[in-house]
Amino acid sequence: MKYIMLNHKMNLEYKTIKKYIKQLATIDTKGHSLIVFPSDIYLTNFIDSKFMVGSQNASSNKDGAYTGEVSASQLRSLGVQYSLVGHSERRKYFKETNQDINKKIRLLLINKIIPVLCVGESLNDKNSAATKEVIFRQLQGALDKLSSKDIENLIIAYEPVWAIGSGQIPTNEEIEGVIFYIKDLIYKNFKVKVHVLYGGSVNENNIDIIKQTKGIDGYLLGGVSLHLDKVQELIYKL
Ligand code: PEP
Repeated sequence: MKYIMLNHKMNLEYKTIKKYIKQLATIDTKGHSLIVFPSDIYLTNFIDSKFMVGSQNASSNKDGAYTGEVSASQLRSLGVQYSLVGHSERRKYFKETNQDINKKIRLLLINKIIPVLCVGESLNDKNSAATKEVIFRQLQGALDKLSSKDIENLIIAYEPVWAIGSGQIPTNEEIEGVIFYIKDLIYKNFKVKVHVLYGGSVNENNIDIIKQTKGIDGYLLGGVSLHLDKVQELIYKL
C-alpha cells in the first residue's frame, strides 16, 4: 500500500469540483490510500466521499482573532484527517518558518490530524551540495521537542523545491539517498519508523521510473491531481 496524496493547491472552481467528486467515486485505488487536499472551501464537499480528506494548511494559532485563518480544531470538527504542513509554497510566499511549522504540527497532533510535513532543498542548496544539511535543519526546527509518539503520527514528504511544478525530477539514487537519510535520522533520534513520501513533478508517464526507487511510501501529487484520469493511470502503474 502506498499513500497517494492529491494537492489541488488554489485550483478548481465549484462546478468543476462537483464533477471531480463524481469522477473520484469511480477511481479504483488498487488498495492504495488516496487522500484529497482541496481548497478549504470545498472540504465539506469531500468529507462524504469515500476518500480521506486533508487540508493544505492549518493555523499556527489555537483560536481567536486571526481573520482568514482556519484552526486545527475547526478542521477536526469537519472530519479532516490529514493536513499538509510547511509546503514550499507556504514557506516561500507566506514566509512560514520552521518555528511556525512546529506550532502547526503540535496543534494538529492535539486535534488528532496527521501532519504531512513537507521538506526539501532549493536548486541553490542542491548545487552547493547542501541538500542533507537543509533537510536536517528543516526537520530539527519542525520537530523540536516532539515525542516519539508524536512522530509516529506524522508523515514526511520529501519535495525538492526545484522539482515542484517544473517537470524536473531527481534521479532515483538521489531520491533514495534523501528518503533513507530522513528515515535513519528519525529512527536515530526518536526510535520510531516514519513514512516518507516523494513529491515533485510525478506524473503518469514518469511513475514507471520513480516507482523503482527504494523506500518511497507514497507520492504527493500537485499538477496531476487535477486530472483524475491521469491519477487513475498512475495508480494502475504502481
Ligand atoms: C506539490 O505541490 O506538492 C507538487 C508535488 O506539485 P507537482 O506535482 O505539480 O510538482
